[in-house]
Amino acid sequence: MSPNDNNTKTNTNNNNSQSSPSMPVPVSPARPNVSSFENMPLISPMISYSSSRAQTPIDGAGEAPPVISDAMRQNLPIHDENLPIVKCIARARIPTTHGPEIFLHLYENNIDQKEHLAIVFGEDIRSKTLFAKRSGESQQDRMTRGAYVGKLYPGRHDADVDPKSEKQLHFNEIGDLIRESDTTYSSKHKEACLTRIHSECYTGETAWSARCDCGEQFDEAGRIMGSNGHGCIVYLRQEGRGIGLGEKLKAYNLQDLGADTVQANLILRHPADGRSFSLATAILLDLGLSDIKLLTNNPDKILAVEGKNREVKVIERVPMIPLSWRNKGDGIKSTEIEGYLSTKIERMGHLLEKPIKFTNKVEN
Ligand SMILES: [Zn+2]
Repeated sequence: MSPNDNNTKTNTNNNNSQSSPSMPVPVSPARPNVSSFENMPLISPMISYSSSRAQTPIDGAGEAPPVISDAMRQNLPIHDENLPIVKCIARARIPTTHGPEIFLHLYENNIDQKEHLAIVFGEDIRSKTLFAKRSGESQQDRMTRGAYVGKLYPGRHDADVDPKSEKQLHFNEIGDLIRESDTTYSSKHKEACLTRIHSECYTGETAWSARCDCGEQFDEAGRIMGSNGHGCIVYLRQEGRGIGLGEKLKAYNLQDLGADTVQANLILRHPADGRSFSLATAILLDLGLSDIKLLTNNPDKILAVEGKNREVKVIERVPMIPLSWRNKGDGIKSTEIEGYLSTKIERMGHLLEKPIKFTNKVEN
């Protein structure tokens, strides 16, 4: 018996045609163009490997990512020719309302003017560019930038030595940090680091939107990393799959008119997914995280973050299962989220399987 035989999709594509049985149906249909959306060609096809994917675990356990040849990788259209240059300009400890401390890293780069972030769990994950010695700077300057070992406290005067934990950083002749195992985490020598690449979603993270699951996924990634002790969420400022908040709001109106997430973007002449992940690759390398366990359902993201030359390696994929699929009372409840998740699975090749619904059970 092959475990993959039963992996055919059991999709229900036509959930747009539902109408409430108690409501009178208008003579002129409210969504006349629904069918015209459905046959639209994709102008930015996804780059998933095959339709016969391995079975998808839904228990939250990690799995080996799909194998892809170097030749195929070189030909993928998703990779930028060169990785961007990133520089961490500040790091600060943030105690969180959930308990674990995080170290927020702010980055600048050579391809856009946005302030991309790394949300780091673990004091010992250190940025190469932040910790590198700069000419003329004092120990006070280094502590102010966040380039210190251990903890800050009133009266501390040396960034490179923490008398309380008796830890000391060492540097080579050009002023770069030497990654020693007692002060600095390295995913090459320790465990591959839990990582999530998260694109900013104002509506889902701040405005309580139930149109998408970004807020839930962000919280869940933080929960997993907080309990693990090490982790990194690279937070990229690419709102609405890269189209920006204004265009995303227009896409929402098109969705209310019957289009799905992919169709709405294409109607607005945006790619279905305009995001770029090479900044994330560069940021992970700066943090010394070249071997990672990636929290994602998106196979394209695995390839994108690994980069053309596999500078970063995804050792393991950790699935992100919607909370509402795991426990009936949890997670996001809205008709919009059902359609959003269906689109991710059916149109964008995400590695999730919808839970089987038993509809004919009679409750007494
Ligand atoms: Zn979102």
